[in-house]
Amino acid sequence: MNFKRLLQVIKYILLAILGVLLIGLLVLFAKPLWHRFVTYPGLQKQVEAFQLKKKDCPAVSDLKIYRGVLHLHSYWSHDSKGTIYELLEAAKLRNINFIFLTDHPHGNLDTFPRGYRRGMYDGVLLEPGSEKQGFDAWPLQDGVVDWKTNKDTVAKQLVSNGGMVFYAHTEEPHNWNNPYYQGMEIYNFHTNVKGKKSTLPIITDFLINGPKYRAWAYRTIFERQTAILARWDTLNMHRKIVGFSAVDEHENVNFRARYLKDGKVQWMGINTKPIDTVKVSFWNRWMFHEPDQSGWIFRWMLVNTYETSFNNSVNYLFADTLTVSNISHHLIQGHHFTAFRFLADATGFCYFGEGKDGKMAGMMGDSIKISDLKKLSAVSPFPGRFTLIKDGKSVDITSNEQYQYSFDKDLQKGAYRLEVEVKPGKDWQPWIYTNPIYLY
Ligand SMILES: [Zn+2]
Repeated sequence: MNFKRLLQVIKYILLAILGVLLIGLLVLFAKPLWHRFVTYPGLQKQVEAFQLKKKDCPAVSDLKIYRGVLHLHSYWSHDSKGTIYELLEAAKLRNINFIFLTDHPHGNLDTFPRGYRRGMYDGVLLEPGSEKQGFDAWPLQDGVVDWKTNKDTVAKQLVSNGGMVFYAHTEEPHNWNNPYYQGMEIYNFHTNVKGKKSTLPIITDFLINGPKYRAWAYRTIFERQTAILARWDTLNMHRKIVGFSAVDEHENVNFRARYLKDGKVQWMGINTKPIDTVKVSFWNRWMFHEPDQSGWIFRWMLVNTYETSFNNSVNYLFADTLTVSNISHHLIQGHHFTAFRFLADATGFCYFGEGKDGKMAGMMGDSIKISDLKKLSAVSPFPGRFTLIKDGKSVDITSNEQYQYSFDKDLQKGAYRLEVEVKPGKDWQPWIYTNPIYLY
């Protein structure tokens, strides 16, 4: 082969490699780009138009409504670096009234107080808790939890001493017959992520759409967690198990940098793992800004943020006052529902039983005597499709969009919960899951 021929062969090989690379990139980014310029702007417009349909609801309960997030992580967890400033900024932006943290403990002896202490921070109520042994656990007081103890015993001890124990990650096995746990997650964003074959399409979608359409990138991952809801229904046929949604937010699939004491810069990557420590130089200086309140001099929020998840699945709780004792009391009572809020804010929604005397006989989470009940009712600030589920079976479904719902036919002993879907575009989308009303 002469020299000219060799150059030609090399040229063709390089062109072929370039072609394959281009095709690969196109395949990888075609869908996210389609989302960016077609799907998400369309969905955004539909949701904004739908949100104009808001109507004031008649007040049906004397209790106030508080919006809260449960099961989330801060700097105390090994896989998060979230600070109080970041939590509060997101809470205020998204009108969140209470945050119940579940940090991973350091070792088996888990001492409270640790991490951020219980209290009101700038109008937001914060309560520390633990995610361990498949529990979302909040002791609700100072003390030590010994996680070496058999976990059923831990649940018993915590609950007997006035604490709160809910089951986390309910796609995983648990001792469902344990008589002490009070509730379970009926939606967790991570459960949806774990259910996907590959995380690459998720990452590429956030890479392209994170800055402008992060909420829709979250929503693309969403799937109704049907098996979990079915298990919840079965459990509620035997005793009250409260259902709530977990944001499970760590704000940790991101890149950050901060100064170390010696003036060097530490870079952190996915899961907040340190990836490099470098000196500030002519070459990297332009990337850094003055440290923010949390100490970051660089933040590239690639995937998950408190701000987006605080608008994704939100627990709407009926309570008297914004105190740990009152909020946890009503959480355990099941006086709450979950709403996927970026579709529409569900403030004003209520699911309740109307008594024969015309007054409220009880709301979601309550038990009502059938002989006292006239009907099961709901009011909603947005028009939706209501599905009434009794002991896991759909017993009634409204055919079109309505702001009010009532059911008075053939009321029998059992757990009745309501799901509400909204239709901002062509399809019905899950919007609200209420806790059940227990008829006896
Ligand atoms: Zn978690």
